[in-house]
Amino acid sequence: MKTIMVDMDDVITDGNFTNFLEEFLGKKINVNDSKVYYRQELIEGKEEEFKKIYQYKNLYENAPLLDGCYEVLKRLNEKYDIYIVTSYIWGKDIINPEENLKNKFQYLKEKLPFINPNKYIFTQNKKLLNFDIRIDDRISGLENGKINLLFNSWSNNTITEKELKEKNIIRVKNWYDIESVLNELDK
Ligand SMILES: [Mg+2]
Repeated sequence: MKTIMVDMDDVITDGNFTNFLEEFLGKKINVNDSKVYYRQELIEGKEEEFKKIYQYKNLYENAPLLDGCYEVLKRLNEKYDIYIVTSYIWGKDIINPEENLKNKFQYLKEKLPFINPNKYIFTQNKKLLNFDIRIDDRISGLENGKINLLFNSWSNNTITEKELKEKNIIRVKNWYDIESVLNELDK
């Protein structure tokens, strides 16, 4: 059985971080327009203030799964050995890591009950691990895979097709697209 690595943030769910930021900054944020690599850069200089209010809030409370995630992952889970690999420690510690780890675990367990919690891997160093297929919204999560799928997101939509081709990465629009790309490659 082939192994698949699935990233969590901005692949399984968007979580609530953008909502927290909008509330904190008191304005709407268009992540597509803000030229940042991590959204937390938008509160530069105000980290302590942000941390006081949000460090123990649940980033995943009431956060929906992205469209198609449940049904496609459930089907893929019959054919592949699926691992969810996700980091839980935020830069500058603005979200409490112990709490975030617990919240991630509970969210995955509740929302994707067909994936055994033994197959959650909490680490930032994804390239240490080997998988046949990788799905991530960050190029940094796609090193080492035989098949690398970049999940389309605000953080990667300026990366050119040429660059992706050079790195052996295929851009996927959504979960249904993942399923059809994998079906096609399996033929
Ligand atoms: Mg991600």
